[in-house]
Amino acid sequence: MTETTQEKTGLGNYFVANYPPFSFWKPAYLPAAHAALNTVPEPDTPLGLYLHIPFCRKRCKFCYFRVYTDKNARDVETYLDALVHEVTLYSRAPLVGGRPLTFVYFGGGTPSYLSATQLRSLMQRLQAVLPWQGAEEVTFECEPGTLQQHKLEALRELGVTRLSLGVENFDPKILEFNGRAHLEDEIYRAYGWARDLGFEQINIDLIAGMVGENWDNWKECIAKTLALAPDSVTIYQMELPYNTTFSKELRLIGQDEPMNIADWPTKRAWVNYAFDALLAAGYEVSSAYTLVKDRRRTRFVYRDALWHGADMFGAGVASFGHVHGVHLQNVDTWEHYVEMLRRGELPLGRALPVEPRHRLIREMILQLKTGRLETAYFRHKFGTDIWETFRDGFEQLANEGNLIRTAEGVELTRKGLLQVDRLLPVFFDPQHRGSRYT
Ligand code: SF4
Repeated sequence: MTETTQEKTGLGNYFVANYPPFSFWKPAYLPAAHAALNTVPEPDTPLGLYLHIPFCRKRCKFCYFRVYTDKNARDVETYLDALVHEVTLYSRAPLVGGRPLTFVYFGGGTPSYLSATQLRSLMQRLQAVLPWQGAEEVTFECEPGTLQQHKLEALRELGVTRLSLGVENFDPKILEFNGRAHLEDEIYRAYGWARDLGFEQINIDLIAGMVGENWDNWKECIAKTLALAPDSVTIYQMELPYNTTFSKELRLIGQDEPMNIADWPTKRAWVNYAFDALLAAGYEVSSAYTLVKDRRRTRFVYRDALWHGADMFGAGVASFGHVHGVHLQNVDTWEHYVEMLRRGELPLGRALPVEPRHRLIREMILQLKTGRLETAYFRHKFGTDIWETFRDGFEQLANEGNLIRTAEGVELTRKGLLQVDRLLPVFFDPQHRGSRYT
């Protein structure tokens, strides 16, 4: 393969979400997951809860999540009952042991697909078993077209602190071609209500490289984002995992390289432009994907806790979690998920006990996404000098101009930050390199 071919946006995953890769998680390791849940928690380990709401109005053509667009009101109730049941089972696990929740994350799918009445009922039932009044952060993902003022009022009352708006792009044609359900006007309407209601933090998600994107439109998107002045902006680079609608369409027409999708250097140039524009407007870089307006008051507890080894239950169909050094994932079909909970069982589908060296690699690669690593943190937590242990990888990245060594540890250059997910496998153990990320 030539360098140019490698840099085209081909089929496959780019984003590194976890380590070891998901393909190493197996049903055979489920006893380790149950043993972890029956363990007394490590002192000072934060506890989080992730809730997957798998409903969407339409399936975006680039989406690779487990979502449903055809469920009726009764199905939604069935699912929400199952979700509450699952969280109830977790609340009784010795690993919870009365620990308070540090963070809660409603992700999807589209959590804002639920009506205000459904949300009130769901959140009240969840809080009865696992309260989050003392949580540092409650994040709620929204699709702008599903929001009404009274729904946002309910979310504010129910303790949501961080609202994340899936804007992705502002151009009506690009939104439509990529299968997004919302319209440009709905973005401004939803954002205005959310601001008026005084949510602590509003994040806007964008995607660099949606099909049909070009320089002029991207600049326009960044200008419109800046005009809204959100507390944080998160930008992902478009990828084409195998199970998206776009990927299937491409394979049907016998292409494995989309013609009208920007290549990786172009997407990186777009993100670079966005970084420069946001920095010039006073934002600060908080990770390879996120810039924040005021670093002192704009935290992202979910991300930082997870990247520093927190325990987190993942509730909902196909959800991921990590508890007491064990990765877990729920079964990934609706029928299986609902049925297991009907039988009173935790709906776990596969797991992986993570050995100490892999826990170290996991935290190192996830924290590198913030753009820096502090050697003292790893020496204290793992008793390891990361520079010595991973010298070859660090030197390779330094020689390529992606990283510099600092007094505290290492720092990615802008070039390194813009392609961090492509660089991380250099730290993987050999058996984990090149494996499919599913
Ligand atoms: S709204 Fe999000 S979860 Fe739903 S289909 Fe689109 S990308 Fe997927």
